Amino acid sequence: MNILVTNDDGIGAPGIKALADALAGIGNVTVVAPDRERSAAGHSLTLHSPLRVFELKENWYAVDGTPTDCVNMGIHTLLPYPPDLVVSGINHGGNLGDDITYSGTVAAAMEATLMGIPALAVSLATFASTEHFPDAAQIAVSVVDEMMKQRLPPDTFLNLNIPDLPLLQIKPVMITRQGKRSFIGNIVDKMDPRGRKYYWIGSEEPNFLDEEGTDFNAVGKGHASLTPLHLDLTNYSAMEILNRWQFP
Ligand code: MN
Repeated sequence: MNILVTNDDGIGAPGIKALADALAGIGNVTVVAPDRERSAAGHSLTLHSPLRVFELKENWYAVDGTPTDCVNMGIHTLLPYPPDLVVSGINHGGNLGDDITYSGTVAAAMEATLMGIPALAVSLATFASTEHFPDAAQIAVSVVDEMMKQRLPPDTFLNLNIPDLPLLQIKPVMITRQGKRSFIGNIVDKMDPRGRKYYWIGSEEPNFLDEEGTDFNAVGKGHASLTPLHLDLTNYSAMEILNRWQFP
């Protein structure tokens, strides 16, 4: 099995090393990842500047682009043939609830799905410093084993979030739905050294509505959370309502 590994924390992040090391036990791993942190890059693609690739060591490529660029570069240029699987992560910080739309980690898996390649996004649900990336990587490998054995439903990719715990304390994988964030505005404004005001979007610990069955709830209880996602953003129940609207 040929596995393309990427992330949005950058190729030097500890999470991608733990993931690549663990996946090397079950396949041939090629890493194609951003040359620096691109967290919250979402599904963005670089269209207005060239991309450069740096081969750091055998099968490890840094790209000066987004996670979505990396998946494109990996599949269309750097790998001799399309991989059997794309795994993105392990992100330092959960990708839970509404936050997944910002996530470069999740978008990379989304991009692979658009190309018809099975994909998994993996995140470790803490922003604190942690030693548990190798533990989370073991969970990711077990999920990969099962998803390759069972085959994913069409147009589906998986979002795995793992609690920040030692392997033996992580409770079994729970299938969840995407939760909801409760937003708190937090924009810092300060003065720069030349007396001009600047603004910085803050990053406090996200708050979620703690509903049963959600990704957030499962991780909070110590389970690994696995959410099947798809690219179709249509709100089907709203279609019925909109069909009753009167347009000229
Ligand atoms: Mn990140």
